Amino acid sequence: MQSPSAQQVCVLGSTGSIGVSTLDVLARHPGQYQVYALTARERIAELAQQCRRFVPKYAVVLDPARAAQLEQELAEEGVATEVLSGVEGLCQVASDARVDVVMAAIVGAAGLRPTLAAVQAGKKVLLANKESLVMAGPLFMAALAQSRASLLPIDSEHNAIFQCLPYPCEDLEQAGVEKILLTGSGGPFRSRPVAELHGVTPEEACAHPNWSMGRKISVDSATMMNKGLEFIEACYLFRAEPAQIDIVVHPQSIIHSMVQYRDGSLLAQMGNPDMRTPIAHALAFPERIDSGVPALDLIAQGRLDFEAPDEARFPCLRLAREAMIAGGSAPAVLNAANEVAVAAFLDGKLAFTEIPRVIEDVMKSAPVVELRDLDAVELADREARTLAQQALNQGGGVGTTGAGFPESRSM
Ligand code: NAD
Ligand code: MG
Repeated sequence: MQSPSAQQVCVLGSTGSIGVSTLDVLARHPGQYQVYALTARERIAELAQQCRRFVPKYAVVLDPARAAQLEQELAEEGVATEVLSGVEGLCQVASDARVDVVMAAIVGAAGLRPTLAAVQAGKKVLLANKESLVMAGPLFMAALAQSRASLLPIDSEHNAIFQCLPYPCEDLEQAGVEKILLTGSGGPFRSRPVAELHGVTPEEACAHPNWSMGRKISVDSATMMNKGLEFIEACYLFRAEPAQIDIVVHPQSIIHSMVQYRDGSLLAQMGNPDMRTPIAHALAFPERIDSGVPALDLIAQGRLDFEAPDEARFPCLRLAREAMIAGGSAPAVLNAANEVAVAAFLDGKLAFTEIPRVIEDVMKSAPVVELRDLDAVELADREARTLAQQALNQGGGVGTTGAGFPESRSM
């Protein structure tokens, strides 16, 4: 079913929540898009299944031994997919000359190098991996300006803002924009008594009321660090000053964000909370394609609510704003400390309410330096992870104090 005019798509992180939704949309339009490469770190059986179905030219598995295993398995079945490994393999498929579109859906800092490789190679980059922009915003945006690449936001809020702005939009002031209103549901603990938050479990934190997502972003939604990271992401993507972005809590997740104009207009993008809508929008932009998401039924929905964010309940919002204002390496430090703290929480080694404490400890002790290149970003990231390990060991375990913490895990 090779179609010569089809766009070739590389899906980084194809076994994750965004990856699976992306493949669902692509499968609806086989004549328009072809899967050229798929990548994963875990859930390799699922990756094998995706290879059987889409027969991509390449699959990449992070771990070389597991890559060799998959290659052998696929060869025995006669599936013509070549299997690569390592970060080099990820960067190779993200920048392959035959690729038109790269979906950047690896979770966390690990997405930075392959996503940047796609930008530098001039691809149409669909950005779900917000952490890479948070860590290296200025470098990332400079690489974008110097390449032929285009960057389309997948994060539902940023995709909504993109849809509510004129295109292209180089300057918010010139476009008459007064404010960007970044909406967030408030997560599963929006109205839980604060005194109960200390003991919440990973399962409770991952049970988001509106969205089904990977575990790391689900915890970020529960602490509202997700909104903090999105605040930083929006500053870079839309060249906005921190003061131009307000966070609005909107528990139903029907409005995905808004743009307020000088003349009093407030534009909102609405839809059912399903990531296939922003994925389809970004894939086809400026055209529109079917995403499989049913139309929003406003009558059935009945009402939309809004409230101010509670920064006492969600200190991560303040920490993210402070990191953005501090600039330089501060957002990378915030992101790294958060990744370590969230992994510890998911491992049952850190109490939920200790997540912001660990991040704040690290932000206080890490120097803010200028990030001149990728090596500097990765150094700031590594040092912040070391500091976060130390902060973890200084108490705040689950139940008792001072629970031990295992050696650093790559994320
Ligand atoms: P997920 O955990 O479900 O999937 C992550 C994918 O990345 C998997 O395929 C995994 O194998 C791969 N991966 C993990 N670590 C890796 C590593 N070190 N190297 C290479 N690959 C690795 O995550 P997700 O929920 O799909 O989120 C992906 C990204 O999209 C995140 O940055 C998240 O913030 C962003 N995002 C997700 C949603 C959502 O609804 N899930 C919404 C907005 C933004
Ligand atoms: Mg989002």
